[in-house]
Amino acid sequence: MSESGPQHPRIGVFGGTFDPPHIGHLVSAIDVRDRLQLDLVILMVANIPWQKAGSRKISPAEDRLAMVQAAVADVPGLVAGDHEIRAGGPSYTADTLADLASEYVDAEFFTIVGADAAAGLSTWERYEEVVERSTVVVVDRPGSYADPAALPGGAEWTRIEVPHLEVSSTDLRSRIAEGRPLDYLIPAGTLAVIADRGLYREAGR
Ligand code: ATP
Ligand code: MG
Repeated sequence: MSESGPQHPRIGVFGGTFDPPHIGHLVSAIDVRDRLQLDLVILMVANIPWQKAGSRKISPAEDRLAMVQAAVADVPGLVAGDHEIRAGGPSYTADTLADLASEYVDAEFFTIVGADAAAGLSTWERYEEVVERSTVVVVDRPGSYADPAALPGGAEWTRIEVPHLEVSSTDLRSRIAEGRPLDYLIPAGTLAVIADRGLYREAGR
């Protein structure tokens, strides 16, 4: 907890589809929280990830939320965010930050993105509002490095290097489909949710 914690909570918002959540998401969130002394990092589960919708089948939002809740259950300072699911419709970080600002009064916000997501920031709905309401934190991930030139002009941003973990939800979905092991790539609690709910069983995911 930073000294100013109670008055000005420092809150990270790490948005994603989390279909499923994996070690890359968790290590990034934990490292950013530590490096920037954040009080909380919210893994914000997108209701309808509009930039992905249509390109593939996306697991129901409630299942993705349950998987993230299980992933963060034992991790101090990390929580699952259901704000975008409760709001319904397509999920825009600009709206989510406005929503959070009314819940966490006087908080300072940090929008956490992987370098690949950072490169597309200017395509986000009303990204100017995202940049205005928060500091953008870019976590470097394998294969894509943050290029400051790719970020909208005037954006306040910071870069945090995290261990490069060559995993993505896309690769993990194929692993699940092929029946290959997932231990340590996906948290045990999340694996239990996947098994209980019978997720990713259909072919072609
Ligand atoms: P998909 O393969 O379905 O796109 P993903 O693994 O990229 O899934 P998302 O839910 O799309 O996961 O990503 C949420 C956020 O996590 C994005 O900002 C993305 O850049 C970041 N991220 C995903 N995987 C990693 C990783 N291995 N290391 C660091 N950041 C990551
Ligand atoms: Mg992705």
